[in-house]
Amino acid sequence: MGRLVMKFGGTSVANIDRIRNVARHVKREVDAGHDVAVVVSAMAGKTNELVDWCRDASPMHDAREYDAVVASGEQVTSGLLAIVLQGMGIQARSWQGWQIPIKTSDAHASARILEIDGSEIVHRFKDRKEVAVIAGFQGINPQTNRITTLGRGGSDTSAVAIAAALRADRCDIYTDVDGVYTTDPRVVPKARRLDKIAFEDMLELASLGAKVLQVRSVELGMVHNMPVFVRSSFDKPEDIDPHGTPPGTLICSEEEIMESHVVTGIAFTKDEAQISLRQIEDKPGVAAAIFGPLADANINVDMIVQNVSEDGKTTDLTFTVPAADYNRARETIAAAKAKIGYARLDSATDVSKVSVIGSGMRSHAGVAAKAFKALSERNINIRAITTSEIKFSVLIDAAYTELAVRTLHTLYGLDQA
Ligand code: ASP
Ligand code: MG
Repeated sequence: MGRLVMKFGGTSVANIDRIRNVARHVKREVDAGHDVAVVVSAMAGKTNELVDWCRDASPMHDAREYDAVVASGEQVTSGLLAIVLQGMGIQARSWQGWQIPIKTSDAHASARILEIDGSEIVHRFKDRKEVAVIAGFQGINPQTNRITTLGRGGSDTSAVAIAAALRADRCDIYTDVDGVYTTDPRVVPKARRLDKIAFEDMLELASLGAKVLQVRSVELGMVHNMPVFVRSSFDKPEDIDPHGTPPGTLICSEEEIMESHVVTGIAFTKDEAQISLRQIEDKPGVAAAIFGPLADANINVDMIVQNVSEDGKTTDLTFTVPAADYNRARETIAAAKAKIGYARLDSATDVSKVSVIGSGMRSHAGVAAKAFKALSERNINIRAITTSEIKFSVLIDAAYTELAVRTLHTLYGLDQA
């Protein structure tokens, strides 16, 4: 007997029929003798609708009221699942974030979990074998007593945090895909599902574009060493042996992974834009004059490339920003033009960042060099490069994204046999 957190995303609870399906998954684990806490998202599309309503009501809405509105989607699904479970003869009750409580910071719409008191839920596991059905995505700020939400996709983070608080054996994330793949299978049909992936690699994959899990949930899993299992909610609940190993991907510590490749996976994103400043003066203080104002405007700069100047006087500098901040970044730079002193600003939004990830890179040389050669043979021009210990990224024309991802997937031996 063990203790499990089961998390179901929006498509898995999209209507009452699917909620019934979720309840059968829960029943299977309860029947196997486990203590179960379930974390649910809002029905698919619901949060978007609620967000749109807030924008409609006022483009400059109060973030505290935004949270009061958007947290309601999870309130509905947690109640509905508890009702269905009760109808199947299973003891269950719903919990809102504030009832547990899940204490968070007061950063509305992107709050951080500070503390979770799981004692009452554990007490009820022991006392009455009661399933806890918990609304994901939401919490409460203890100082202000206001409802908070954790940022889009935040119910993954709720689930992992609750698993840690309840000292669960595992956190199962049921979703509309059956695991984590070496890359997006819609782009590369030969993508392979990974049986296991280390927290660190998963963190990079998620940060660099893979949309399976909220980044913060992976961070929390790593901090608490909580194994997270990504699996499909569409498998027939009764076909699954609760004691067997169902298809899925286990995100766990590196030590538990026997066979490891140099490259684990390839991520990509089209959510970045490139800005190049031409003929800036090559003198101390220029980088500060550029990136200071961007930081003050809360714009995250990702890749930076500065050329060595040929004549010792002027040089070019290229950087990328999130596409959503592109216009603001251009305005911010233009406003600082006199201080920076550049001749021309070029920019591009039709770019994509392709990233190769693998903790095996730590102990292997030449991994990136291989990629640069393969891309050049495909005539793909690299606009910028960044590297770190366990990943490297290239910025290329968006039109070549799929070709680049496929090329690299084959190059690093990730294709399915
Ligand atoms: N319902 C929220 C969202 O759509 C939280 C989640 O699903 O994880 O972002
Ligand atoms: Mg999600």
